[in-house]
Amino acid sequence: MSLPIIHHPGYSCEWPEGHPFPMAKFRVLRERLSALGFDARDDVRWITPSPATSGALLRTHTADYLQRFYLGEVLTTRRTPSGFPWSPALVERTLLEVGGTLATVEAALESGLALNSAGGTHHAYADRASGYCLLNDLAVAARYLLAQHGLERILVVDCDVHQGDGTAWIFRDEPRVFTLSLHGEANFPFEKRRSDRDVALPRGTGDNAYLACLARELDPILTDFRPQFVFFDAGVDVHADDRLGHFSLSTDGLYRRDAFVLERCRRLDVPVAGVIGGGYDRDLEALADRHAQLFLAALALHSRFGRKGPG
Ligand SMILES: [Zn+2]
Repeated sequence: MSLPIIHHPGYSCEWPEGHPFPMAKFRVLRERLSALGFDARDDVRWITPSPATSGALLRTHTADYLQRFYLGEVLTTRRTPSGFPWSPALVERTLLEVGGTLATVEAALESGLALNSAGGTHHAYADRASGYCLLNDLAVAARYLLAQHGLERILVVDCDVHQGDGTAWIFRDEPRVFTLSLHGEANFPFEKRRSDRDVALPRGTGDNAYLACLARELDPILTDFRPQFVFFDAGVDVHADDRLGHFSLSTDGLYRRDAFVLERCRRLDVPVAGVIGGGYDRDLEALADRHAQLFLAALALHSRFGRKGPG
């Protein structure tokens, strides 16, 4: 069975020059994966997603907030809650990104492992945007699994350097979704929410300390909670050269982190949907190379596990 990778050319939209969010990174990542030979491989299957529907979004987001999201908020200040300038194109690309994570879930249920070349917008709340996140794709997709597939134990492994505060808050009273967040103590959001398990690590955390912590945290949750499905937010803003993160992981450390999480899930035969999460280098080639580690780790693993059994 081939490794499904979900991508839409519309993930990157027209964007104001000099805006701190690297909107073009989704396109550059796609190009990077081509350069790495992902197009020519017969063990990779590219899937083009559809935009998320209102029905799917309403399981997580309030109708009032969705109306403001679709139509544009009337702004009284220059700073919007998301940090983004609202436009119809931004709405469309955001719906594609959430639709991409939904397609990733479907593909992961079939194949055991699937990746979205976007996603991980974990700061968005049910009723508001925050920190470059308008809609919470992880929450929308988890609610989809609860409602449409009747799953009862879903784990969100959030390794972005920023705490997954929106996801934590959305699922604060939902025992069927377990949220694990490893994040920088000193990073945004400065008012943290309570995940089911939070691990705040200090400034400067490097590969070995990080990977040891991840192993220590993840294994007991897999054993005790016994998830039927795992979301993996593989944010690369933990990298030493990231503009917004305070950690010091190397590119090799990213690969080892991603390989570890995916391997742990696949070894237990738990389907896993990976999303790329945050990453904020102005050097888009360097940034795409960091995000590409998730895809390289998945491909290496998929050739080991992908052809085994019904998954
Ligand atoms: Zn982040």
